[in-house]
Amino acid sequence: MSLNKKEIIFNGKLLDDKFYQDGFDVFELFQQKHGYTYDDLIMLPGHINFSADDVQLGSKLTKNISLNIPLVSSPMDTVTEHQMAINMALLGGIGIIHYNNTIEEQVQEVKKVKRFKNGFIIDPIVLSPNHKISDVDQIKVKYGFSGIPITDNGLIGGKLVGIVTSRDTDFIKDRSTKLSEVMTTDLYTARANCSLEEANSIMKQSKKGKLPIVNDKGELVALASRDDLVKNRDHPNATKDKDNKQLLVGAALGTRETDKQRLAALSEVGVDVVIIDSSQGDSTYQLEMIRYIKRNFPKIDVIGGNVVTTAQCEHLIQAGVDALRVGMGVGSICTTQEVMAVGRPQATAVFKCGIYSSQYGVPIIADGGIRSIGHIIKALSLGAGAVMMGSMLAGTEEAPGEYFYKDGMRLKKYRGMGSLEAMLKGGDQRYFSEDSKIKVAQGVSGSVVDKGSIKKFVPYLIQGMKHGLQDIGSPSVEMLRQDVYSGKVRFEIRTTAAQVEGSVHSLYTYEKHFI
Ligand code: NAD
Ligand code: IMP
Repeated sequence: MSLNKKEIIFNGKLLDDKFYQDGFDVFELFQQKHGYTYDDLIMLPGHINFSADDVQLGSKLTKNISLNIPLVSSPMDTVTEHQMAINMALLGGIGIIHYNNTIEEQVQEVKKVKRFKNGFIIDPIVLSPNHKISDVDQIKVKYGFSGIPITDNGLIGGKLVGIVTSRDTDFIKDRSTKLSEVMTTDLYTARANCSLEEANSIMKQSKKGKLPIVNDKGELVALASRDDLVKNRDHPNATKDKDNKQLLVGAALGTRETDKQRLAALSEVGVDVVIIDSSQGDSTYQLEMIRYIKRNFPKIDVIGGNVVTTAQCEHLIQAGVDALRVGMGVGSICTTQEVMAVGRPQATAVFKCGIYSSQYGVPIIADGGIRSIGHIIKALSLGAGAVMMGSMLAGTEEAPGEYFYKDGMRLKKYRGMGSLEAMLKGGDQRYFSEDSKIKVAQGVSGSVVDKGSIKKFVPYLIQGMKHGLQDIGSPSVEMLRQDVYSGKVRFEIRTTAAQVEGSVHSLYTYEKHFI
């Protein structure tokens, strides 16, 4: 039975359908003159008639690439290199390798993702016969393992000549003894194209903990480890190429002439998608680069940006982008709005660019300013196909860089790509017009706390997103978008007091644990 809410006279006032309507639809909301941030908005709960586990998080990253999990790691040198990209892809998202490096370095990072085979270590620590037992001791202290393959030149790709395990070194007093004198040379190996099952069975038969993988020339290409095989889980959601089953990976590049060489080299190693990395994407440099890529590398998807207005979207869509990256001046490390006086509050930018681009079938990525699962859900509901994160993923084990301690906290460095520090690493050529001598930074460099591994952190984000969509009453990201655009999902603006009320308050102390 539905209750009749219509046209009741209450204390002389007519209460009709309009009065009972909760909140506002997005179109009413964004007609205001204000730009809204995620925190300004709140979504009203809907009706639940499905379980959180039934929620589908699949979504489009670009016109041609779909993700099972709409999460992307940012192309920043303290966020995404191969470890992050591999694990993001295994979990169903994707990583974009930064380009604050040489072409060769970036190509190597992409190669490692494309070559990744679940359970195999593709960049093992390798020593040469001339190294000493003390070198093995140091590696054991630093990384906790002591089974090390030995190649003639001490590098991966060198000819495999032996392996050293703790059995070979434990009882030798003179730690300056060369590894050539103690290494095991009677080796069990597996061929480069062997499957995980084959590697597993060789290890079982040989009772060895480490199995070097070699190519036809006897050169070391990878290492299989029994511990990793035991830990190795299936990744049913992994973002993979349907044909060759390789993980998908993206890479960032710029709009200079040298970026054309970079692009060619990235294409050579099978990069799937490139992001043209700029704070202000609506430039003739970028439009030309988009056209160049679409003309010469039609198989590589191009993400343009960054943009925050529909006019910027229009130009980049006309040039042929396969997706747009949305966000200007909202990143945690960002000083763009302060220094350049341009940018846009992110909720408004995502909604406006999302609604405009959706008419052309061009997905958008909400980039920057994500601090919580709630922000991710708001970004998706406002039209993002995926959400790009920097600070949320910095500080995880998979982010580049070493942990350090400060004030009793375990931290990792996190810095803006437009910070002075990052610019000095990347070189002036990348950041400035040819004749520009004075550096104007648009970012800061700092640190973030240890968040553990993304293998735990991202599943926590995923489960949180599922519960959020359940509360809203939309069983998938696609339905969420439809429900928002149709006006079924309702929003309200939160006053400053409402935002205080909606956060933890009135406690003397509290602890906030992610996982
Ligand atoms: P950019 O490469 O787009 O621009 C740097 C400078 O070089 C600009 O003055 C630009 O006009 C100029 N330039 C670019 N291509 C050129 C070409 N082909 N010929 C001549 N001049 C050219 O980089 P950016 O916008 O300074 O951003 C640097 C990094 O910082 C990127 O990683 C970016 O993502 C990040 N960033 C992001 C934001 C944001 O809000 N999303 C803000 C600031 C910085
Ligand atoms: P975060 O997730 O809030 O930390 O924001 C990450 C995003 O900030 C990146 O994906 C970039 O778009 C943007 N960004 C990266 N470096 C800089 C910078 O130096 N200044 C401003 N924005 C940056």
